[in-house]
Amino acid sequence: MKDIAERIEALKKKNDAVILAHYYVDGAVQKIADYVGDSYYLSKVATETPNKVIVLCGVQFMGESAKILNPDKTILLPDATADCPMAHMVTPGEILAKREEFEDLAVVCYINSTAEIKSVSDVCVTSSNALKIVKALPNKNIFFVPDRNLGCYIAGQLPDKHFIFNDGFCHVHDEITKSSIEALRARHPGAKVLVHPECRQEVTALADYVGSTSGIIDFATKGEATDFIIATEEGIRHELMQKNPDKHFHFPDKLPVCPDMKKITLEKVEHVLLTLENPVHLDKEQAVKAEKSLRKMHEIAG
Ligand code: 13P
Ligand code: SF4
Repeated sequence: MKDIAERIEALKKKNDAVILAHYYVDGAVQKIADYVGDSYYLSKVATETPNKVIVLCGVQFMGESAKILNPDKTILLPDATADCPMAHMVTPGEILAKREEFEDLAVVCYINSTAEIKSVSDVCVTSSNALKIVKALPNKNIFFVPDRNLGCYIAGQLPDKHFIFNDGFCHVHDEITKSSIEALRARHPGAKVLVHPECRQEVTALADYVGSTSGIIDFATKGEATDFIIATEEGIRHELMQKNPDKHFHFPDKLPVCPDMKKITLEKVEHVLLTLENPVHLDKEQAVKAEKSLRKMHEIAG
């Protein structure tokens, strides 16, 4: 009797499928994935893989981005209800209103947004390339949606731009407190503090390094330090330990867990490969407009 990983492998071959997973999904799912990465990497791999079917182990906006970039491929979501609440924290109406209010405005949308929001934005960004992309824009006024924390973090480094923020946030990162990081520092003096920019400013202010999930993994892997305080979702521990079995990673006592990312299980991956259920469908006109902001991101990010 084959185990579930072997059955998934056989189904992948049968369907000409490839499995992509984000660092926040369960370690067991990361283990069977062909590619594991941050949001930017996953959207890049989605454009490069020759397979007809992509199983996206992550949340809805990741599947939508893969579909926008590959309209002719089948993108399957192991759990179609796995959604990022922050993706819905801005409306097209709010964007339209800002366009009327400000001249010379660029609407910059974090990839953690719906296809509809991408379709009315000028350029998309991820946490790994937001600074580079906003810096490259000729516009003075930047409406950054939906994440106020990432927006504030980027704004702090670009004093010549005028930022307009939106009140969206990631509930997982927003709940990481300054005092929880200070308590970890007291327990582990000398540990480097690595923070995701979806955290509040008072938390990024404590960081030795601020970056995307891939950035955090690279920083921990390449440096000499052996002790790290990690301010992001706990799923990242899997890759940190894979790459650095002898190093120590300390997470806040109230462990940051994204309930939506954790909906993805091996059983659901097998199920969608068996049934081809949960394909991503998008409004065609909207997808074509959204593609422009995603392509612009890839063009500038390089
Ligand atoms: P990155 O992997 O791009 O850092 O994104 C983090 C995140 O919250 C994805 O939902
Ligand atoms: Fe959304 Fe936060 Fe979960 Fe990422 S970790 S999917 S930003 S809720």
